[in-house]
Amino acid sequence: VAPLDRVRLSDLPLRQALRGRTPYGAPQLDVSVRLNTNENTHPVPPGVAEAIAQAVGDIATGLNRYPDREFTALREALADYLGHGLTAEAVWAANGSNEVLQQLLQAFGGPGRRLLAFQPSYSMYPLLAEGTHTQFVDAGRADDFTLSAEHVAESITRHAPHVVVLASPNNPTGTALELDVVDAAYRAGERLAVAGGPAPMIVVDEAYAEFARPGTPSALTLLPGRPRLVVTRTMSKAFALAGARLGYLAADPAVADALRLVRLPYHLSAMTQATALAALRQADALLQTVDQIMAQRDRIVVEAARLGLAPAASDSNFVFIGGFEDASAVFDALLSRGVLVRDVGIPGHLRVTAGTEQEVDAFLEALTQVLAP
Ligand code: PMP
Repeated sequence: VAPLDRVRLSDLPLRQALRGRTPYGAPQLDVSVRLNTNENTHPVPPGVAEAIAQAVGDIATGLNRYPDREFTALREALADYLGHGLTAEAVWAANGSNEVLQQLLQAFGGPGRRLLAFQPSYSMYPLLAEGTHTQFVDAGRADDFTLSAEHVAESITRHAPHVVVLASPNNPTGTALELDVVDAAYRAGERLAVAGGPAPMIVVDEAYAEFARPGTPSALTLLPGRPRLVVTRTMSKAFALAGARLGYLAADPAVADALRLVRLPYHLSAMTQATALAALRQADALLQTVDQIMAQRDRIVVEAARLGLAPAASDSNFVFIGGFEDASAVFDALLSRGVLVRDVGIPGHLRVTAGTEQEVDAFLEALTQVLAP
């Protein structure tokens, strides 16, 4: 009997919209210096790792039962961490802030509805829109990648979106928004609703908030009295817990009620809940790397400028560097020296994560060599 041909993807009755598509994902290459996905490159400290292992061990005999569907203890701990007078009812969590954003679009986007974003921004936004059958509208940014309150408000008026996403600090550019931009977005949404348009949810994606330069306030301060404002956060960056997959949001408690309608039953595993809770109990130890990372980030900005490049001001754990003649050639040359950065597809620019001091040494040394005449 002739062996059966392997079935290919194109043989399957895939949805039309997915045909010919490639999955999202940055390269996971086995090189010594990986500065391409904005992780916290510091390993989890041994004491915290032990506490996590203990916490997961403690619940292991109970894994025969479904986890607490409301993850109440975790929501309380997240609310305590955020402060701003927030309570557990105002907090919701999922497997990474990607899943939080997906749930928001499942609840507030969908067929016949629009997500408004300002690219270049986080590259998952258009994909999350597509996956939830939400129309993606990109209103763009200024040539220097900044975003003004006027442009945001005018774009909301023009496109009448159902959901607006503002990344602050923005990825890939790294800079945080002034709160007047968020407030202008909210007020434009209110005017839109009064004029008979949709009442848009305004989502501020603060995945990198803990790295913001001093004096950069969080949109959490704007939550009171703004029931359609949502602030998303993650434990993937400052908490060095990308592998655990825990993202969360703060908003009016009614937003959690909306997300209960779309979340999968028991979406947060007992192991995820135990891990995140243990990590939050050790928050001080875990967040100790934030200052070091900010120092390395500032060092990259200074050194890149010294090399004649044009780094953007960064409030995050990465730096967006412009001024390359041929960014993809520089990307390749860095990679051949064992340093992996991110080519985000914007001509003349590369994005690099602020790693440990040693990793940044390696990056700067390789960059200096590559740019040498
Ligand atoms: N928002 C932004 C702006 C990001 O850069 C990322 C991660 N790259 C995420 C959200 C998602 O992170 P996670 O799902 O790990 O919480």
